[in-house]
This record gives sequence, C-alpha cells and structure tokens, in this order.
Amino acid sequence: MAKKLVACRIADRDVLEHPEELDLLKDKVGLTTAMLGGPFDLSPETRALNPYPKEVRDKRGPGLGLTGDDSIVRRAVDLAHAKGLEVWFNIGGWNTGDVPSSELAIKDLWGRPLNKVGTGEYSQARFAKPSGNLCPNNEAVNRWFEAAYAEAAAKYGAEGVYAGHSRYDDLSVYPAIFACGCESCQQAAKEMGYDFEDMQRGVQEVWERLQRLDARKVKLAAEVGLNPFDLLELLGGDTGVIEWLNFRAASLGRQFARFTTALHKATNGRARFGAQAYPASFELLVGHLYKDYAGCDFMVPPLMWIGGHFMDGLAAWADFILRHAPGIEEKDAVRFLYRLFGYDVVEWLPLSIDGMHLHQGAIPAERLPDYRPQSISGGGAPAENLYFGPYMDLVELEMKKIAILRPSAIPFYPLLRGAVRPRVELRRQFQLAESLGFEGWLIHGYEGLL
Ligand SMILES: [Zn+2]
Repeated sequence: MAKKLVACRIADRDVLEHPEELDLLKDKVGLTTAMLGGPFDLSPETRALNPYPKEVRDKRGPGLGLTGDDSIVRRAVDLAHAKGLEVWFNIGGWNTGDVPSSELAIKDLWGRPLNKVGTGEYSQARFAKPSGNLCPNNEAVNRWFEAAYAEAAAKYGAEGVYAGHSRYDDLSVYPAIFACGCESCQQAAKEMGYDFEDMQRGVQEVWERLQRLDARKVKLAAEVGLNPFDLLELLGGDTGVIEWLNFRAASLGRQFARFTTALHKATNGRARFGAQAYPASFELLVGHLYKDYAGCDFMVPPLMWIGGHFMDGLAAWADFILRHAPGIEEKDAVRFLYRLFGYDVVEWLPLSIDGMHLHQGAIPAERLPDYRPQSISGGGAPAENLYFGPYMDLVELEMKKIAILRPSAIPFYPLLRGAVRPRVELRRQFQLAESLGFEGWLIHGYEGLL
C-alpha cells in the first residue's frame, strides 16, 4: 500500500525557529510533508500579471504575500527537504477574504458587485458581511493564479501546491450563491455551452420564491423532512437552476485543469496541484462538484472549520427564514435546515442561532442550549471543550458523505484540525480518515499533537 500523506501547515518562520518540531511531528503523526506559505519573491513577469490595484500590489497578489527578501521561505524549504520531507505551498484561491476592487469582485445575477454589503435584502441580515470573492472567470485573475502557482513551485523547489479557498464564499454570504453573473461569466457560459439567460431567469425566480416563505410549511418540513425530489419540485423543477449550479462548478473545474497543466510544465512534472473540495453537504453551494476536479492531482476537503463555515452558514440561513417566514419559531427554522442538510442525525445540535456558533470561544460550552455536559472532557478551557462532541460528530458525518461521493481516481486528503481539541479526539479523526480509505490528510494547527 502506498505511504499515507500527512501534511502539516507550518509557518515558514516556525520551521526556522523550531526545526525540532518537524522531527517530533515525523515521530508522532508520521509527517511526510511540510506545508509552507511564503511570502514569495516572484519574477517581474509574474508580478506584472498581478491584478490588484497599485496601492497593494507590491505587498500581495490574489492568494499570496509578496516580498523582496525571500530568505525565510528559501531556508524553510531547504530545512524541510534536509529532514526528508516534501514541501507543499498553501496558496489561496478566488475566495481571498477581501477584494480590493469592485472590478475583480463577483457580481450577482442582478449585476451588483458583492464586495460591499450594499443596501439590498442582505443588508438586513444579522450576519451580513461583504463577499471575499474574486470572479473565477476573470481572465486577469486566472492568468495571475496560473503564473503564481507555477512559479512559486518551480522557483523554490516545492513538490506541491494546495490552492486553499479555491471556491465561492461560504454559505453565510448567501448572495454569493446568486453570483457570479458578470460579463466574463456570461461569456464563459456561452463558451461552455450554457444558456445564461435561462439560468438567470430560473435562479431569479427561486430568489423571488424564497422571499415569501410560508411559516406553517417550513414548520411541517422541519417535522417530516424533504427528500431531494421534493426539493426539486419546490424549487420549480427548473433546469436553469440546476444548470446554474453546474455552470459555477464547471467554471472552477476548467481553471483547476489549467493550473495543474501550468504547474506540471513549470516543474517538469515534479510538483502536484490540488484544490479545495468543499464537504459533500455544501459543495454545490460554493461552486464545487467533485467530478469537475478531473484535471487536478489531489483534492482537499476542509473539515476543520465545521463551526466557522458550515454552522455559521446554516445560522445565516436560519436568520433568513426568520425574516421571510413571518411567525416561524427560531427552533423550527434551525431544525428545518438540519433536516435539509442531513445534520438532524446529530440530534443534540443547538436549536438556536446563537448556539450555532460552535467555533466561537466567546460562548462557553455550558451556556450552549441543549449541550450535553457529559460530552465535555475534563481539563482545558471551556472554549477548547466547545469543540468536543458536535464538532467530531459533524466531521465524521461529512467524512462519510465524502467517502460515498468522491471519485476514486484522485487522492483525497481531508484537512483536519490539529490544535485546540483533546488529543484523543484528534487521533479519532485520523483513524476515521484511514478506515474510510482516504490517501492521507492535512493538519492545520498542530499544537495538540506535540
Ligand atoms: Zn464573473
């Protein structure tokens, strides 16, 4: 059997200051790969492709930081190699977190750039925040990623590049599901054989329908659950909506293939390219469809941000339902969403929007409504214990769903949490990944493992 890949995200500077930790990680978790992150000193040719405005472009481009002195990354790569480790770079993708110009931002199907919250329906949302997404069909952005990924790997001798955040915004920025419909995306749709007007009409109709939810029906659906066929009927059975989800995913997939080709070419086939592949429950909503990664060398489902990404997303939708289904009770809105996404099997998840913020240390475990105190292990601060229980159950659920849906031809390396939680829980998630046949895993934050 091939050796499992075990990669840890380690700050480049930490490699230099604490090289002994690499040995410890090799010993304790079988570390094979150090995942570093720059900043990098890229060539004038690549820097010329940086699409960011001149105020910031000397310091950063989409996905990475720039420097004139790259001695730290160089030395960190050499040190990891000297210890027999492979090196990957963790570089960002389209979901950069902040978009410095509206021209590069995603636009919704009504033509509004989403890098500002604006004044529309979303501005009323309890958790409204600007989109952090660049348009994935913007050629200037993609030329930059293509050149930057390839050059970073080639120049510093890395064996791989993992493009994290290579997607649309997570569910909590729900207007992003109605994006991107900019001119570049309309053009891409045409090239790829999609009927943009049909998709736009279908999706806009769904949006209209979502504005007028019936509290009684949502409550009933929370009780009995809806299967995918029910949902299809409820959404109007419109092919434009399905095409829209497919089009968004295919847009990303064709760029993944392009980035992989460029990386192989620049490194004579030495380095591998992989992209983030969102967990199965939510993949289509952030523009992912596992079959569209055929051009990649590996895929990475991020599972460590169950709270930050998935529960926050559901909390934002619960807030949406509260505002658009007058008379609905909060617990019914929350329960409806758990059922819809299959989270109802974890029967003791919190039934309030406040309680859904599992990742926030600000809410101690004992204050979470419906929290089972016996699930809290001894020791550690309340914030640490917060992750015990629901976190692991949700990781397990998502890992199993991915194991069902994943293509077998491409290695899948789930991204797991290596800090904060009790060690026994950390081990449990690695064992589960192993038993489900994943080819390895990535670990973010490793303090809990040393
Ligand atoms: Zn676009």
